[in-house]
Amino acid sequence: MTALGDVLRSAACWPAALVGSLLASVLAWRLGALSADGAAAAVAVGTVVAGAGGWGWAALLLGFVAAASAASALPPRPQAPRRNARQVLANGLVAAAAAWLHGLEAVSAGPAFAAALSAAWADTWATEFGVRYGGRPRRLWDRKPLEPGASGGITAAGTAAGVVAAVCCGGLAGALGIAPAGWTAAAGVAGMLLDSAVGGAVQAHYRCTACGRETELTRCGCGARTRRVRGLRWVDNDATNLLATAASGALGLWWSLPGRLP
Ligand SMILES: [Zn+2]
Repeated sequence: MTALGDVLRSAACWPAALVGSLLASVLAWRLGALSADGAAAAVAVGTVVAGAGGWGWAALLLGFVAAASAASALPPRPQAPRRNARQVLANGLVAAAAAWLHGLEAVSAGPAFAAALSAAWADTWATEFGVRYGGRPRRLWDRKPLEPGASGGITAAGTAAGVVAAVCCGGLAGALGIAPAGWTAAAGVAGMLLDSAVGGAVQAHYRCTACGRETELTRCGCGARTRRVRGLRWVDNDATNLLATAASGALGLWWSLPGRLP
């Protein structure tokens, strides 16, 4: 009876997870937060997280999405570009993989899921707050001044916002019974710092051929083409984000091994 009940319960859960993710993603697309392919990726991530992890996990994911969207709407630059599928997956793929593992009941992957979201949340807030209120960013290890918004640069305002984000994610994960608050916050801060280190050391950086501005994009904001000046061509901002969330997720997975957590 119990086994049959479990099957019925999970069978009812997945369609509801799909419908809920579809509604939330269409809303985000209508509000201008997601592109069409970004919304499709968000449906996939949301369905796996809610279907395999359950509604508590979906609530933590929604908390991150709402916090990230709210930060993009801050003055003085409230118009953020729509997030595309690559950006959605860079922030959500590791969390979805952790939920999938958890659903298989092979491992208790709550800490990995919360840690990956904590890193994504911290990095998003660090970027959004840092670009607006942080002034000139400096490289993590040698304090070299960089262009505002450049990957690998940190600002006091951005770092403070990132720490607050990790603490928010930890508090929410703890309240929802997914993972311990302190561990989750620490994993988020570690992911944010790794993101800055990788962003500064190996991510591709370009210089505009027209206005000379340094950017992480292959096309400058002024519309002209850019030339790569350092970093690896295939390591863009999304690859850096994916690596940072994967590292934090791995840390969370290690913690959730038997005997590691108090
Ligand atoms: Zn330019």
